[in-house]
Amino acid sequence: MNTNTWQHADPEMALHGREVIHTLTTAGHEAYWVGGCVRDELLGRAIHDMDLTTSAEPEEVLALFLHVIPTGIQHGTVTVMQDGHAFEVTTFRTESGYTDHRRPTEVSFVKDIREDLMRRDFTMNAIAMAEHGERVDPFGGEADLRASLVRCVGRAEERFEEDGLRMLRCIRFASVFRFRVAYNTWKGMIRRREGLQYIAMERVRVELEKVLAGPDPLRGLEMLGRSGLLGCTKVPVPWEQCDAQALQEIVQLPAELRWGLLLMSCRLSSEAADELLRAWTFSNAVRLRLVHLLEWETELISHAVAIAGNSVSGDSDRINVEALRRSWIRLLIKLGKDTATDWLELYKTLPSSFRGLPPWVEKHVKKIAELANSWTQQAVVVRIKDLNITGNELVQAMNRPGGPWLGQMMERLLQAVACGDIPNETETLLQEVKRVMSSE
Ligand code: ATP
Ligand code: MG
Repeated sequence: MNTNTWQHADPEMALHGREVIHTLTTAGHEAYWVGGCVRDELLGRAIHDMDLTTSAEPEEVLALFLHVIPTGIQHGTVTVMQDGHAFEVTTFRTESGYTDHRRPTEVSFVKDIREDLMRRDFTMNAIAMAEHGERVDPFGGEADLRASLVRCVGRAEERFEEDGLRMLRCIRFASVFRFRVAYNTWKGMIRRREGLQYIAMERVRVELEKVLAGPDPLRGLEMLGRSGLLGCTKVPVPWEQCDAQALQEIVQLPAELRWGLLLMSCRLSSEAADELLRAWTFSNAVRLRLVHLLEWETELISHAVAIAGNSVSGDSDRINVEALRRSWIRLLIKLGKDTATDWLELYKTLPSSFRGLPPWVEKHVKKIAELANSWTQQAVVVRIKDLNITGNELVQAMNRPGGPWLGQMMERLLQAVACGDIPNETETLLQEVKRVMSSE
């Protein structure tokens, strides 16, 4: 057994994968590793899962293994569990009848591995590897890997016509691997880009997430822009509005915040971003995180503009730091500390020219960013529930039925405590309420 075949996979996983292949070949079938795992091994990238392909029909695979799940048996895929490791085993097959630009209406099992490899999207994904490392590579996938090229198997136009998602996969691979796209493949993509409209936004999003999370998102975004693909999705991205300058430092950000910068660079309002993120099938958690971030930016800038407008221009000593601090704390109360952290991170990567603010206002924003962390740390309480008094206690102490006054009063207490005007002590809080009520 050649133990050097897999340098970039978990040795246990490789061993159990080999056992599955061995069982199949011993029973007289052909079996190979195929697709992403072979490609990633040749590229020297970490391998997360191993797909196998075999001449055995699904029923035959089911019969050979003890723990096996018929995951997609009608398409020829079963999952073999070998000592806790899962392997998708797919029967050699061809696909035909792509009438809806996204999936075949017909799959037929075949006996020749070359026919199976022919249905795969790119040459680098159409390499099979046998038990001892011998490779089947009929389309020059290894040569393309060496040349850093994404190239369609067969005629690009036809392949993109069959399944529009392949166009995004093409750009994703080019972007994540820093590859070029072969000339005919790029040309075919441009011709068939309208086909992207048939692809579910969820699948589109997954590909774009991989582009954005990769090592060179700018390159991916540039290719997406240049190919015109972004304008062809079911829910188009308002790409034309994007300010490329604003994105220059995007790699500095963690993956989720990269979306925040992208939305911001398109100058989307938080409402427009909310709508877009819904349509793009983001989870509620991610959507709210990003929408809050955009809200923070908008509100903070309008506070800075107002505060700068109220002070004398030109002398940096005259910046009303206390007013800035209070407005920061208002935002903390409204949108939470996590959004504060996100905004500060974004601030570092966003060139100041992007906002086009007058220098005097920009100075205010800079001041906020400088001092914000200490302000956040000082604000021990930013949520009503952390106040050392409850609504019920207030109602009892004031001997007054609940109503809108109660919420307003709690807000007011929170603001005062968060700003450090009064301590978070029940007795002091009650006194403050009495003072306010008697003066009104
Ligand atoms: P990764 O898992 O790293 O995203 P991958 O190439 O392994 O990349 P999968 O979606 O896991 O992608 O698909 C496994 C294999 O199936 C691919 O390597 C390719 O051979 C084939 N394949 C996947 N999607 C398509 C498609 N849309 N058209 C043709 N072949 C595809
Ligand atoms: Mg894969």
